[in-house]
Amino acid sequence: MRLIRARIDGGALRSNLQRLRQLAPASKVMAVVKANAYGHGLVGVALALPDVDAFGVARLEEAVALRAAGINQPIVLLEGVFNAEQLAEAARHRLELVVHESEQLALLETWRGSFRFTLWLKVDTGMNRLGFRAAEFANAWQRLQVLQPAPAALRVMTHLSSADERDGAVTRAQLQRFLPLVKDLQAPLSMANSAAIFADATTHRDWIRPGLALYGISPFAGQNGSALGLQPAMTLETTVIAVRQVAAGERVGYAGAWQAARPTQVAILAAGYGDGLLRSLGNGAPVLVNGRRAPLVGRVSMDMIAVDVTDLPPVAVGDTAELWGRRLAVEEVAAAAQTIPYELLCAVSQRVPLEEG
Ligand SMILES: *Cc1c(COP(=O)(O)O)cnc(C)c1O
Repeated sequence: MRLIRARIDGGALRSNLQRLRQLAPASKVMAVVKANAYGHGLVGVALALPDVDAFGVARLEEAVALRAAGINQPIVLLEGVFNAEQLAEAARHRLELVVHESEQLALLETWRGSFRFTLWLKVDTGMNRLGFRAAEFANAWQRLQVLQPAPAALRVMTHLSSADERDGAVTRAQLQRFLPLVKDLQAPLSMANSAAIFADATTHRDWIRPGLALYGISPFAGQNGSALGLQPAMTLETTVIAVRQVAAGERVGYAGAWQAARPTQVAILAAGYGDGLLRSLGNGAPVLVNGRRAPLVGRVSMDMIAVDVTDLPPVAVGDTAELWGRRLAVEEVAAAAQTIPYELLCAVSQRVPLEEG
């Protein structure tokens, strides 16, 4: 068995999808699988979710990898394409495109292939990253109407900047900018990311676009996925590779960043920043060794971390530790690293094998 591995639970993915469908029963689901499915493995996740209505990716290469694996559902390129070569490749792979700025419209106006794209016109309602502004919307919509060949379908989307804020004021302001633009169109609409799916049902519309929640993780600070009816799909596990006794006053690891205040039993675990653990996980960050909580001590190094297991039943080389997952919420570990769970999950590196189970 591998020293470190990420176990991916397909049943949890499907249960989370079902939970999201229950919350938004009238909406189709675009499962967002960018960044290697938030570290969970792009193809494996897509294969585990045969019932989703579409997949959303950020990069053309991600879409091509899904098609190469035999994934047949619609795939949406969330940032669209940027030149004629990419447009042709998108057609070859039957991809749907987000259109968020006028050069992308101009590119589509040059398209003379027989493939008819499904297009998602993106409106900027306050995020100020991608999308046409309200004043530009009617013109962009008109240009899509007259494309030749005609698009297979036209949809309208926007992205919410602050749906995880419980008071919802920013989301309401974004809705107020979005809805007047689209009220007379017959087009299907999409707004909701994971946070909005839970926080505001008025954002659900025709298509929801969950990412994080699909993986069982809460988008809300201070609340775990389990409180939302979700199950974590990834359990990151590793192995104890050494156990040593450290005398009071001795230091552990690079720069001696931790000093033993008492005689201490230290377990060395095979997990480091080479596996994607963030160095901002410092002294005191939680780890489960043999299912019991123990604090990380000293710096995260490339291949190892040290954990104070003095207060645990005896720990031996070969024992198992959970860095996050079923029994230790990644939300809590992220808080200890002063970041968000998205960053921890996406950071899991290529050398960590993904296993089913
Ligand atoms: C990443 C992304 C999502 C998913 O966001 P989560 O917070 O992970 O649910 C939805 N829509 C767009 C456009 C995205 O880029």
